[in-house]
Amino acid sequence: METKILSRQIEVSPLNEMLNYNGKYGEYGGAFVPEPLVKPLEILSNEFEKLAVDPGFKLEFIYYLKHYVGRPSPLYFAKRLSDFVGSRIYLKREDLNHTGAHKINNTIGQVLIAKRMGAKEIIAETGAGQHGVATATAAALMGISCKVFMGAKDIERQALNVKRMELLGAQVITTTAGTATLKDAVDAALTYYVQHPDSFYILGSQVGPHPYPKMVGYFQSVIGQEARNQILSQEDRLPDSIFACIGGGSNSIGLFSGFLNDPEVEIFGAEGGGLATPQNTAATLSFGKPTIFQGTRSYCLVDEKGNPRESHSVAAGLDYPGISPQHAFLKDTGRVQYFPVTDNEAVNAFNLLSRLEGIIPAIESSHAVALATKLLKGKNRLAIVNLSGRGDKDVEREF
Ligand SMILES: *Cc1c(COP(=O)(O)O)cnc(C)c1O
Repeated sequence: METKILSRQIEVSPLNEMLNYNGKYGEYGGAFVPEPLVKPLEILSNEFEKLAVDPGFKLEFIYYLKHYVGRPSPLYFAKRLSDFVGSRIYLKREDLNHTGAHKINNTIGQVLIAKRMGAKEIIAETGAGQHGVATATAAALMGISCKVFMGAKDIERQALNVKRMELLGAQVITTTAGTATLKDAVDAALTYYVQHPDSFYILGSQVGPHPYPKMVGYFQSVIGQEARNQILSQEDRLPDSIFACIGGGSNSIGLFSGFLNDPEVEIFGAEGGGLATPQNTAATLSFGKPTIFQGTRSYCLVDEKGNPRESHSVAAGLDYPGISPQHAFLKDTGRVQYFPVTDNEAVNAFNLLSRLEGIIPAIESSHAVALATKLLKGKNRLAIVNLSGRGDKDVEREF
């Protein structure tokens, strides 16, 4: 199995097509927010629509993606993994981005909007600290002060990322409400935003009220745009299938967006399936119900009374009871197939990729690798797996 020589210049650009959505994805999406947020979100939405088609803004975004983030990220032919699985597998290397994951694509995009809007302060929530670090990085780059809300339990578990955010000049604010994890940090950040609507809230995934899912999808679509160009120049054809892991849904929508209109490309999402006991039904799309949660209507994990409940995954980035409204729509239409991947399967893929390719993947990304290895075994297909982030943050964990 050989890699063909890269023959074409690859453009770094978001997909204008992602702007066709009006905040609704079928029956999902919308903005279900307290009164004081209605106006600020409307202003944000108008500003985003204007900037997304402004050539000057696009050039500035592309400039930072190229020279600061290090895009385009390579599409790497994983030869030893391919031989092992019996299919031709390419890895989209988002792990090589500055700060080590895809999240920086989105925080750079949103911080540039904040700058244009003259925001005095950036706020964000974080679970494992990855989005907090990406936000603190973008805020430092633009010289805007930054507050990151984080659950007390996560602060304890993610000491290294807390230290990184502080080094980057951000103020980390502890929340002790609820279970003191991500869901509670989002609530705390939203409460602060209601009290300070002149601050700019940078959301980390394709969730929350309109216009966030649309903005995040637009900024992350560079992944799919690049991957499509890259596979065409490296293989002269489209892949048979593509794979990504699903937390809130941003790295996956980034990759998928480049191939949604190619019916011959099969699309697969890997959800955090936890321990996969009958009691632990942690995968949102597989076991959730359409519900209004944190500003949007989408699938959500709920208890018997219909209230949002905790999710459990070995991967902090997949441990969220909600999900992108666009993925909810893509599930219902059948365009994308979603499968839960257990903690064990993900840990095996984490070890496998490290040994076969010398690439230590984030435990989140390992879910996509696990699903791909399972479904592609002996099938001789051409596939792309999105490697959403690097696994340095996971090496000290006892899996
Ligand atoms: C945050 C994170 C995820 C999950 O978030 P999405 O919005 O679903 O992409 C996946 N992988 C990595 C490395 C992350 O940091």
